[in-house]
Amino acid sequence: MIYNKIFTPLSLGFTALKNRLIMGSMHTGLEEEKQGFDKLSVFYQARAKGGVGLIVTGGVAPNRAGWLAPFALSLTSTKQCSDHAKITDAVHREDGKIALQILHAGRYGYHPLCVAPSRIKSPISLFTPWALSKRGIVSTISDFVRCAKLAQAAGYDGIEIMGSEGYLINQFLASHTNRRTDEWGGSFENRMRFPLEIVKATRESVGEKFIIIFRLSMLDLIEKGSSWEEIVMLAQALQANGVTIINTGIGWHEARIPTIAQAVPRAGFAWVTERLKQSVSIPLVATNRINHPEVAEKILEHNQADLISMARPFLADPEFANKAFTNRTKEINICIACNQSCLDHVFQKKRATCLVNPIACRETEFKLQVTHHKKRIAVIGAGPAGLAFSSFAAEKGHKVTLFEKANELGGQFNLAKRIPGKAEFQESLDYFKQRLQKAGVVVKLNQTVQLPDLQNTEFDIVVVATGIVPRTPYIAGIEHPKVISYIELLTGQKNVGNNIAIIGAGGIGFDVASYLLHPHDKQADEHFYQEWGIDKSYQHRGGLAAHTNIESSRRIYLCQRKNSKLGQNLGKTTGWIHRTSLKHHKVEMLAGVEYTKIDDNGLHIKQGGIERVLSVDHIITCAGQMALRDLYEPLKEKFESVFIIGGADQALELDAARAIRQGAELAETL
Ligand code: FAD
Ligand code: NAP
Ligand code: SF4
Repeated sequence: MIYNKIFTPLSLGFTALKNRLIMGSMHTGLEEEKQGFDKLSVFYQARAKGGVGLIVTGGVAPNRAGWLAPFALSLTSTKQCSDHAKITDAVHREDGKIALQILHAGRYGYHPLCVAPSRIKSPISLFTPWALSKRGIVSTISDFVRCAKLAQAAGYDGIEIMGSEGYLINQFLASHTNRRTDEWGGSFENRMRFPLEIVKATRESVGEKFIIIFRLSMLDLIEKGSSWEEIVMLAQALQANGVTIINTGIGWHEARIPTIAQAVPRAGFAWVTERLKQSVSIPLVATNRINHPEVAEKILEHNQADLISMARPFLADPEFANKAFTNRTKEINICIACNQSCLDHVFQKKRATCLVNPIACRETEFKLQVTHHKKRIAVIGAGPAGLAFSSFAAEKGHKVTLFEKANELGGQFNLAKRIPGKAEFQESLDYFKQRLQKAGVVVKLNQTVQLPDLQNTEFDIVVVATGIVPRTPYIAGIEHPKVISYIELLTGQKNVGNNIAIIGAGGIGFDVASYLLHPHDKQADEHFYQEWGIDKSYQHRGGLAAHTNIESSRRIYLCQRKNSKLGQNLGKTTGWIHRTSLKHHKVEMLAGVEYTKIDDNGLHIKQGGIERVLSVDHIITCAGQMALRDLYEPLKEKFESVFIIGGADQALELDAARAIRQGAELAETL
């Protein structure tokens, strides 16, 4: 076995975890759907069957005031237990273990009933919370205990008390949000009374043989957050009062520092958990941006933590643990930390799924059955759409031949992987490569399919997945040698100077700016902490560095014609990171631009009626894309069944999530 540490069981005294992998808490959106518990039980069952040591559910409120949003899932009465038992039974049938996360949103509650230690609105909320009265605090503690007791009755193996990310318990702990002058505020002893009373009363109520995890905010990343000494004091008190395991929480939701996005280096916060290891003896869990068994094994090997929690990686691959256990690492569908189909969906009140695994959270709906009508299928184009379709179709039993004009699989993913933070797109390509091989897809690289190539062949079905061509904007002087396309830049065909104008501020325009500004070597990880002001020596409260000053190696103008804010259509949970990072690097973002001409002096523009010359060395075009679908109509005349997917189908607002999903869905129907 390669991953000895991961697969060393962990004894908790009264029970044991079969390995060191925890599936971290994640809201999926199934919670609020009709038959949500039936769907959730299949979702969790698949992860338990996939071998994970312990699952933690999405957050469940202990009372109405603790809702994250109106009518969010809560556990407050015995009659709700039978629903939860569907989940616990399903997980136990697979020899898994599952804990219910109790989450009281406090002032992050998106409703008028929300409460907090003090009446202070958060910068990311619409509602000002009510300050809890002393009686309110005592009854909230009882609600936590009731919730834990009900979880036990519903068959859960334990609970996780959510004490981090800026939710209610965290709000009591930090003077930033706790301005009380009674015994629940003031000194740290008073501020930590709330979590300690919850833990004490819960342990008393559920007995010794029930897992209590406490998610402790070890790095608040906000001003007036906890100091390191306070974190240690709380951790030791939690241990003394009956907590079984301490999980790591990183960053309040209102912190303007990325904590799980692609910008964060892999295992980029394991050092925080490691720091606490010297001060407590109960098991500690490392979290955030851990997505590969090698990374997890290293953390355990270096004694940085006792357990590893991953949330999104189990959306991407329910069988992560079993594949690692049986040395099939290459078969793991690695989470690329894009947030596009999971967190972004949840923020838009849509059901979560996964960009690289469109079956996630659709386990009861997506039916991929072995076909009794085997077809010979030609697929043209091995970008994400063609790769996904070919894998699923061949796994159903069809005979698939995949044609690709380039000398490698992957289409635009081969450009995306060159962007800082997106190197993991290569993992997706490796994953698909082995899947194609295993399913027996015949791959023909360096083959540009033209219409005559498919004539007189015996294919029953042709799938066009030829992707896109970049748009060349019509601007006088566009053929000037200063102008290069994003493809020429990213493939290294052309080098650029230090003064650059980028035409187009969509996803690719932002990526190109980031490519030009960020280091591409080993310094990239350290640059992350410096850029975002994280102090690994923890000299200040919240782990914030005193100053952040980024020296920019390049002067960049990022332009668009629209008047709206640049990057408005970037991901809900990541767009702000891209915008902020470019601001750190002093990129000039220009909206409402009219491009008038390009010449030796640079890019001539008009903005608000004022003419200006951006005197740059190079101008990079990132002006959107157009569908490459020339083969589609002629093929339809020759073949009975021709389908078109991905960018070739529709270039506008195309992303890899749609390309992969369309490929999977088409395969499902054939
Ligand atoms: P493509 O990836 O374009 O693949 C089409 C394939 O068809 C190509 O390999 C091409 O060589 C081949 N082909 C074309 N014609 C023929 C022919 N006649 N014969 C044989 N082969 C042919 N999306 C996201 O969702 N998230 C991101 O973070 C993200 N980042 C990106 C960053 C960059 C820099 C770029 C360029 C793109 C990024 N994208 C991202 C977009 C994403 O890569 C595309 O949406 C996705 O690749 C589209 O998939 P596709 O299969 O439809 O087309
Ligand atoms: P895009 O997001 O559609 O952006 C195209 C940009 O070009 C816009 O800023 C547009 O702004 C400009 N433009 C369009 N027509 C133009 C013209 N004729 N002349 C000058 N400018 C023009 O497309 P993209 O950046 O090429 O990205 C392609 C797809 O890849 C996107 O849909 C995106 O989903 C995906 N992607 C995603 C990410 C991610 O991080 N999630 C990253 C990269 C790519 P104006 O019209 O206002 O000028
Ligand atoms: Fe990971 Fe992206 Fe899938 Fe979310 S959508 S689980 S971040 S790969």
